[in-house]
Amino acid sequence: MESTLKRTWAEIDLDALEHNYKVLCGRMGPGPRFLGVVKADAYGHGAVEVSRTLEELGAAYLAVSNVDEARELRGAGIGLPILQLGLTPAEQTEQLLAQRVTQAVWSERSALAFSREAERLGGRLKVHIKLDTGMSRLGFPCDEPDFAASLEAICRVCALPGLEPEGIFTHFAVSDEDSGESRDYTLLQHRRFEDMIRALEERGVHFALHHCANSGAAAGYPQFGHDLFRPGIVTYGIGHQADALGLRPVMALKTVVGAVRELPPDTTVSYGRTFRTTQPTRVGVLPIGYADGLHRVLSNQWRVWTPDGFAPILGRICMDMCMVDLTGLPHVNEGSEVEVYGPHNSVNDAARLAGTISYELTCAVSKRVPRIYHRHGQEIARELLLRE
Ligand SMILES: *Cc1c(COP(=O)(O)O)cnc(C)c1O
Repeated sequence: MESTLKRTWAEIDLDALEHNYKVLCGRMGPGPRFLGVVKADAYGHGAVEVSRTLEELGAAYLAVSNVDEARELRGAGIGLPILQLGLTPAEQTEQLLAQRVTQAVWSERSALAFSREAERLGGRLKVHIKLDTGMSRLGFPCDEPDFAASLEAICRVCALPGLEPEGIFTHFAVSDEDSGESRDYTLLQHRRFEDMIRALEERGVHFALHHCANSGAAAGYPQFGHDLFRPGIVTYGIGHQADALGLRPVMALKTVVGAVRELPPDTTVSYGRTFRTTQPTRVGVLPIGYADGLHRVLSNQWRVWTPDGFAPILGRICMDMCMVDLTGLPHVNEGSEVEVYGPHNSVNDAARLAGTISYELTCAVSKRVPRIYHRHGQEIARELLLRE
């Protein structure tokens, strides 16, 4: 891994993670407990170290989106309960039981399949019932026309052998949006969630854990804490609500200036010749490209941060390299470190320019970018995801 360290790397600030954890817990109040969403390798931040830190901080639960992600955490010695939020084929029930994973159950059909498999294996699978209150993705539909049928179906599911119903949850579609229409929709979704829980309780069906709050709800509706809250993006200190909450970005994606060139006026830069110098231009060549996760759509749009100022990307981003304008930054030389995203250069701004969301950019930081973990101000671990 040493050889790649001075190429491009992602510093993961676990102290910032601790700060964000504490701010979010304070915001939700003393009742609700923290469920850390660490799917997709903790949004690109490294699921094992993030989960270890959350476990040490006192989180109650973790969530992933497939069984392999759960296995990775168990293999690293993570003991917290893990909820598998996504689709799991019933044939993987054995792995769910072996890894002590709680499975989301999104329909009666899926519940029957898990029940049958768990019985055959002689185990009991912990499940959380997923309610579709308006996301139209997974879950028992809770809109007016479907409400009664879903109520009956959930009652039947909770009586199935081989299942241990522990929780019930839903997911919001627009909880991070401020418009009146979005707020009305989120309140409607929450009302459906509470109505279904109440109707189930009237039928004698109770769940120990109710949860619904994603990042948007943690930011905008702290009263939706229930037993657990499930913030993802804000845990990592990014997303458009993070600044207002006083959160700190956990990832700093960094690279070094690999070569410096002096180009005369009227010289084109990179593939497609989309940038042309108009004056003598000092150009830095950086060993980061779209194969590292720096999306090519940011060509001629994004910039890197240096202690002396920003250096705009010139021309197309290549697979393994890109060029930046160092004119007017005479102290930035070969070997200087620059920040591609991070506390000085927000990935939120890059996402806006790329026409996407910050989630996609941190998830895209690829396996050849080593993660360097810092805790209590010191480097504690390095991890490279490339095969040995
Ligand atoms: C991904 C996910 C979350 C976290 O969403 P954020 O917007 O990152 O807070 C919470 N709940 C479910 C079901 C999810 O799939």
